[in-house]
This record gives sequence, C-alpha cells and structure tokens, in this order.
Amino acid sequence: MYVPTKCSLARPRIPDRSRILSKASRVIVTRAETLKPLPPTDDLVFGRHSTDHMMVASFHPKTGWSAPEIKPYGPLSLDPACSCFQYCTSVFEGMKAFAGPDGKPRLFRPNRNMERMTRSAARVALPAFNSDALLELIRLLVMIDSRWVPQAPGCSLYIRPTLIGTRPSLGVAPSDEAMLYVILSPTGPYFRTGSKPVRLLAVGEQVRSWPGGTAGYKLGINYPACFSPQREAAKKGYQQVLWLLGDGTGDSMGMKVTEAGSMNFFVVVKREDEEGVDVITPPLDGTILPGVTRESCITLLRSHSPVSPLHSLDPHTAIRVFETPFTLGDMYKWSSEDRLLEAFGAGTAAVISGVGVVGLDGHPDIEIPEYEGALGPVGKALYDRITDIQEGKVEFGDWSYPCA
Ligand SMILES: *Cc1c(COP(=O)(O)O)cnc(C)c1O
Repeated sequence: MYVPTKCSLARPRIPDRSRILSKASRVIVTRAETLKPLPPTDDLVFGRHSTDHMMVASFHPKTGWSAPEIKPYGPLSLDPACSCFQYCTSVFEGMKAFAGPDGKPRLFRPNRNMERMTRSAARVALPAFNSDALLELIRLLVMIDSRWVPQAPGCSLYIRPTLIGTRPSLGVAPSDEAMLYVILSPTGPYFRTGSKPVRLLAVGEQVRSWPGGTAGYKLGINYPACFSPQREAAKKGYQQVLWLLGDGTGDSMGMKVTEAGSMNFFVVVKREDEEGVDVITPPLDGTILPGVTRESCITLLRSHSPVSPLHSLDPHTAIRVFETPFTLGDMYKWSSEDRLLEAFGAGTAAVISGVGVVGLDGHPDIEIPEYEGALGPVGKALYDRITDIQEGKVEFGDWSYPCA
C-alpha cells in the first residue's frame, strides 16, 4: 500500500547532491498480516518485546535516501563487512510515547532527540538526514502501532531510532552507506527493584568519557566499555556505576563525578547559610551526554517560585541550580556535614531514579537520607511534574507532542 505523505528524508539545503532525495516523498506502508498478542502489563521488562512494525530507510551515495518503509518487524540482512560491525558506526536515540488523557499517544520534546541524533550522526561521519521527516515517520509508526502504547500508569512505548553505517568494505573510512531504522518496545517502570533507591559504586579506574571523546553524543561505542565494570559492581551488590573522571593522579577523592550508569547525575545540597538548597549537576563539557531529562529538570527547577511552585515542594524553598563540576571528595564532605540531602539519576528510561548509597572500594559507603518512595522532595517534584507533562495532564510550553 502506498501512502503519500509530505515525508522526505532529503535535507534540501545541503549542497552535496548525493544527500538530496526525491523518491522518499512517499512512505511505503506494508501492514503485518498477523498481529502479535500484547504482553501482560507486569511483563513489560525494558526492551524485551518488539511491536508489529518498524520503519526502515537506507542511504546510498549514488541514489541518496530510499523511500522510507514501514513494514512488519523482522531481521535485517546486512553484509558481514558492514562498517557498523567492524568500526561501530552506530548512533541511536531513546524516546517514549505515552498515553494521554484521551488514550492517544504523545511524545515528549521529540525535537530535542532529533537534534541530538543529527549531531551524533555528524560526529561519526554518517550521512545527514532530514530530522523533521524522521520525526514525522516516528509519529506515523507510533500511530500504526498505537495499540502497543500501554495505558497503565508508569508504562510507555519506548522508541529506538537507530542509524548504522552499512558500507560493505573493510577499509577504515567513513561509511558512505547507511541504514536508518526505528523500532518500538512497550515498557514498564525501568527499575525492577520497585521503589527502592539505587546503590551506586563509584568507579574511576575505567572511565566512560574523556575530554574530546564521544560521550557527548549518543553513540553505540560509548556503552560496551561500561559493561564489565557494571557487572563487577553488580557482584558487589551495586546496581549501577557512578562514573568518575580523574586528572591522572589516581586520587579518587579528586575525581570529577560524571554520570550514573547511563543517566545524568544530580545532587541536592543544603546551603551553608541554611536558606534553601543547591541542585548541582556536571556541566556539558563534552564528557556528559546532554540529556533531554537533564535539561528538563534544570528548566523546571529554575521555574520553581512562590508563584508557580513545583508541587510537593515548599513554594518558599529557594532552589539554585548549578551546572558545575564536583568531585567524589565533595560528596564525602557534604555527606559528613549532613548536607547531602538527595542524589538522583535522570534519563528517559527511568525519568528520575533516587540514589540511596554511593560506595567506593576501600572506603565507607556514602549514605543518602532515605525517603518514602525512594525519591526526596526535589526528585519527587521533578518526577511528578515531568510525568504529568509526558502524560498530557499538565501543559508546559510545547514539551508534550500529540501524535494524532
Ligand atoms: C540517553 C542517556 C542519558 C539520558 O538522556 P535523556 O535524553 O534524558 O534520555 C544520559 N546519559 C547517557 C550516557 C545516555 O546514554
């Protein structure tokens, strides 16, 4: 079935003619003949289930982008010499569709993901694509698979746009062929431990990012180096790693705190003058992934005031937000002064994930105060406000994007 739409993966303003696409002015939709049964809500483990359909388009330097196809979910057929297998040219995004009050799917700030994916593709020299067209295709795919958007609270449809290099040659060179695809997976709450706060193990021997590296982009290569430290941390009873970045002297206390697992990291510190709190997260210096959730937290916290307070927070609590480096030593110091009130991770998968303990080999654990439901007042206020916006219960600018 041919469904003409306004979609085009072309980027008309790019002068390189190979990037101009004419055929993709239509999207080819082939519906699955049999639809899969929906998994029960309590089996919505992150990333386990795939939906009925996926979107695929491919790029060839001679012909540009192919007409995008929405077709039944299934395996891809790729040459074993493809760039993505050999040299890891793999870019991805993580976003979610939520059921709104009318039951219809909504996305959360999807333009931020499209902008980030464009930057990530450029960092590994993959072909450019028209991100407005990609967003339009995502919207269409979500509508076609809309019965997979879970209606239960805390559940959503995870969206994984992916761009891979498919140049079928072993030469170490940019991949001038590529495949862009989008798959979907219904998901429940990210952390299976229920509402218990997360235990983090601080790791500085292996690092996930360094100045001038790629950690500021959502690239597949950033993750595999984290897997063995994560497995070691799990053996010691910690669910995630708190990634540190040292100055080469090996002094763990002087190491900068970067991210927690694959989430941005925030601490809430009581001010020395006792009036209000400082919320601190590391700056976007290239070693930190610029998270959409991170940015949303900062904006919402800065909007907290007696006139428009974040609910569950005292309207008169003065909150200052800092994007500034801090070290593990700072965290030990704040904790010893009873000023470390909260720590949490922020990311699309879990939204806000409360941290209860930060451990370091050979040192006592940092214990963060315990709160009912695992989130302290600042974390809870952010979680509630972000999920209310995502589910279309509260308006905030253009952050909620209805698919239909
Ligand atoms: C995706 C990701 C985040 C969170 O980004 P969001 O846009 O908020 O989902 C944080 N850190 C890393 C390393 C990530 O990959």
